[in-house]
Amino acid sequence: MKPNWLIAVPRPLRTLLTYSSHLIEQPIQAGCRVIVPLGHSRSLGLAIAEAPPSDQENYALKPIHTVVDETPLLDEHLLGLLQWAARYYHHPIGDVIFTALPVALRDGNVLPDNTLWRVISQTDAALKLKRAKRQHALYQALIEQPEREWNAAALRHVAGSNWREYVQGLIEKGLLESYLPSQTQYSDYALQTAPKLELNEAQQTCLAQCRKWNQSDTLQPILLQGVTGSGKTEVYLRLIEDQLAAKRQTLVLVPEIGLTPQLLQRFIQHFPHQTIVCLHSGLNDTERLNAWLQSRSGEASIILGTRSAVFTPCAALGLILVDEEHDGSLKQQEGFRYHARDLAIKRAALLRIPILLGTATPALETLHNAERGRYHHTHLLQRANHAQPPRFEVQDIRGHVLQAGLSHHSLQAIRATLERQEQVMIFINRRGFAPVLLCPNCGWQAMCEACDTQMTFHAHKSRLICHHCSADRLTDNHCPACHHPQLQTQGLGTERIELNLRQHFPDTPVIRIDRDTTSRKGALQQRLEMVQKHEHLILVGTQMLAKGHDFPNLTLVVVLEADQSLFSAEYHALERFGQLITQVAGRAGRAQKMGQVILQTTQPHHPLLLTLLEQGYTVFAKQLLNERQRWRFPPFSYQALIRADALTMEDALNTLQQFHDLLAECPEVQLFGPIPAPLEKRAHRYRAQLLLQCTRRDQRHHYLQFLTSKEKNIRNPKGVRWSIDVDPVELT
Ligand code: ADP
Ligand code: ZN
Ligand code: ZN
Repeated sequence: MKPNWLIAVPRPLRTLLTYSSHLIEQPIQAGCRVIVPLGHSRSLGLAIAEAPPSDQENYALKPIHTVVDETPLLDEHLLGLLQWAARYYHHPIGDVIFTALPVALRDGNVLPDNTLWRVISQTDAALKLKRAKRQHALYQALIEQPEREWNAAALRHVAGSNWREYVQGLIEKGLLESYLPSQTQYSDYALQTAPKLELNEAQQTCLAQCRKWNQSDTLQPILLQGVTGSGKTEVYLRLIEDQLAAKRQTLVLVPEIGLTPQLLQRFIQHFPHQTIVCLHSGLNDTERLNAWLQSRSGEASIILGTRSAVFTPCAALGLILVDEEHDGSLKQQEGFRYHARDLAIKRAALLRIPILLGTATPALETLHNAERGRYHHTHLLQRANHAQPPRFEVQDIRGHVLQAGLSHHSLQAIRATLERQEQVMIFINRRGFAPVLLCPNCGWQAMCEACDTQMTFHAHKSRLICHHCSADRLTDNHCPACHHPQLQTQGLGTERIELNLRQHFPDTPVIRIDRDTTSRKGALQQRLEMVQKHEHLILVGTQMLAKGHDFPNLTLVVVLEADQSLFSAEYHALERFGQLITQVAGRAGRAQKMGQVILQTTQPHHPLLLTLLEQGYTVFAKQLLNERQRWRFPPFSYQALIRADALTMEDALNTLQQFHDLLAECPEVQLFGPIPAPLEKRAHRYRAQLLLQCTRRDQRHHYLQFLTSKEKNIRNPKGVRWSIDVDPVELT
């Protein structure tokens, strides 16, 4: 009897569905897509595993209709990881599985066969082919047209319908090989050569430690904590060399904005003969699929990608590197809310391969794991290249008159830097011209109709844009309420600072880098190249500028309005503040020249700010950890945030109240809420949240499982949506 199969379907179901395979001729393999009946129609599914024998006798089961793939898309190991993730994050398994597939494969399209063939010419070919006329003819055809793309269609054209047989024959004789076309095209800029650097003593020690740890039997994740500019990337490159020598692949995960052309360039320069693929949100579906296929086949030896790349199948994965492991963009914030770093750690553990987390500013939970000995911990304390750490200066701006947000002192420092033919960076974490547009006559303010928030004024297009739902509308200077002809802006954004600096320094190029100026493909690269060309210039930007970039001639960083997070009700805000300030400051003085950082603030005596500036990130982070321990916040407890949104706040709160009541009697669960979310209304929907906290991970798992098992009992007024966020990094 043919076995039954467990199938994942792309529906919000928490279980796999069982189907019979009696209609299918060939054996089914786990990881292949199948077409199955579902409800009144058919659905694509993914075969996960044979059903356990106890389920085999069920004659009422519906049959699998067709098998789409000849070879599995995902191997057993990835299937295991995804099932683990569905359990850990309490997210429907089908959604998890299909999130992991490239979009191009989510609709049952047959895997495109991009395979090409080429001859391996040999002197004894004629002898080997003496008795194989057809193979000989095919071999000759390939020899005669070496430039031609010999794909399946071309071979079939020459050799007829039995071409596969002849191809197989030639491969067995060692006269033919298959390969995948390389999709990667690098610009001239990327291919400029650079001399290979000699590692300094600290880097050598660190590398030796990593190598030793990676070879021991008890593999633990490694935290490489190195100050910005300490040469972590050089250490990564050597570890990748080890993998290449062993014919193994390396997966490098980077945050969205960390995947810069500069980083790619360094990889290409270091490994000019390797196939390096990039997986990021800027790719179209075909590009993404190609990179995915090259990684799966093993042709790509280095896979660089943002968070979803953690699911990329790799034929021979030997090492995972997570760069900037603290970065928030490694956490998916919608749908299947996973943390790519945490899944990478799990993936490495399942495969028994080493994993290294690199950062200047470890996440508190990572630091905690290192301190408790669960991770190895290695440091790079000094900047490579003998560059000095930047000098911090706290600028008390209380009572000062500011020009475009800049104090007199900051402007003087900017002028002096430019006169030395050096570069300046102004950092503010808000794009647009001004966050507020208001009427001085009647007090009217431009609010988003869909959200509970003000709209940001963008002068460039004379538009108001909501940064929460992207709604935008044209504005003229008239107040819609009282027709006063002169609306006023309040507050600062990158656009306004750019404009003012242009007026102030008319002979200096001012380059703005934020989401608005870099949304076009290639725009970021173009701007970064400009920064390399000009000696003296001013860069204005948001956190896109905070990491990854290496600007050797940048010696002054001015940070504006960063200290608002010191008073945020969100306990994660302080951690992010420390990371951001440290990372931004790290852009200054990366080469031989001394760097200077001016932090304009209205809180010059805030104790945490002083700790950060005077004693550095690690001491700051340890203080935050102590606070968290005192309040029993993660990593000293385990949280899940249940969010609901609905057409009225009452509906959203009511739904969460039912979850609350289900757990109200459980002594092991602490509940906070339900309460309206900090942003109460977004895109016309009212939002509420319930925070659940346990002292042990298994308790949290147990109670979340209990809740989802009761999901059918929850009375859900029409239109209420709810979701679970395990290990939330934002309580908004
Ligand atoms: P990180 O990744 O820690 O921020 P990078 O690897 O980008 O640091 O290195 C910072 C700068 O120092 C780069 O310009 C790099 O070329 C340079 N650098 C790194 N290692 C060395 C070395 N051993 N000798 C000379 N320069 C180095
Ligand atoms: Zn008005
Ligand atoms: Zn909005």
